[in-house]
Amino acid sequence: MSAKHKARKRFGQNFLTDQKIIDQIIATITPKHDDNILEIGPGQGAMTLPLLERVDELNVIEIDRDLIEILESYNKPNLVIHQGDALNFDLAQFNPPIRVVGNLPYNISSPILFHLLNNRDKVIDMTFMLQKEVVERMSASHGSKIYGRLSVMMQAFFEVELIFIVPPESFEPAPKVDSAIVYLVPLKTCKVGNIKIFEQVVKVSFAHRRKTLRNCLKSLLTQEQTQIDLSQRAEMLDIDAFITLAKDYEKQH
Ligand code: SAM
Repeated sequence: MSAKHKARKRFGQNFLTDQKIIDQIIATITPKHDDNILEIGPGQGAMTLPLLERVDELNVIEIDRDLIEILESYNKPNLVIHQGDALNFDLAQFNPPIRVVGNLPYNISSPILFHLLNNRDKVIDMTFMLQKEVVERMSASHGSKIYGRLSVMMQAFFEVELIFIVPPESFEPAPKVDSAIVYLVPLKTCKVGNIKIFEQVVKVSFAHRRKTLRNCLKSLLTQEQTQIDLSQRAEMLDIDAFITLAKDYEKQH
């Protein structure tokens, strides 16, 4: 880490220092020179610099002005730096379709994923570093204890693949938990109808994990209104069953 910059906890700053891991991430991304890549949270450039060697142009969004000064000091003509909050950025300005990459700030990883979910039509694929536990939840299958709202919301819209695990020592400062690289590709044919309704049904279904769906959904749907067996708990339903539930609920409105 540069001696100039003290890592800021509030911005979720854990800088990658392990060159082998950085190489593995770049190999996972396999950037092509004309790819339109957007990096979220470039920090001091651990992934940015090797990416810049491989692409004609790279857009990055960084919230911390001190880090932007460091990035600017590299004088890379093909680096386009945007100062701001990745959560408020309109992806349309990056000339979609884009490939999104980043070692994401862990404190806002879920909101960033949901922001990108709502913009998935502008995205080719996404390669992110996240907390291992979050990636495991994103990719969990129904029937598993960790299968929940995040698993359903991600897998209904993306192919989700855990690529490899990254230990804390690969960062400075070292986080307390393991991390993992996840690769996401928007599904070509997404079967979800109304996203807002789908989100609501999934949220309510998992609000009380120990209760049956009949109990969780009682303000939304009765057993007569759906073929899905509501005597089960939410964690037993696969993605298609949630899509059916949401469509059955939509029919009532
Ligand atoms: N990519 C660098 C690396 O791997 O060393 C830094 C990764 S660090 C985990 C997360 C980065 O995201 C930090 O540089 C932090 O300042 C930035 N960041 C935090 N919140 C952000 C936000 N809302 N929008 C854009 N960048 C943000």
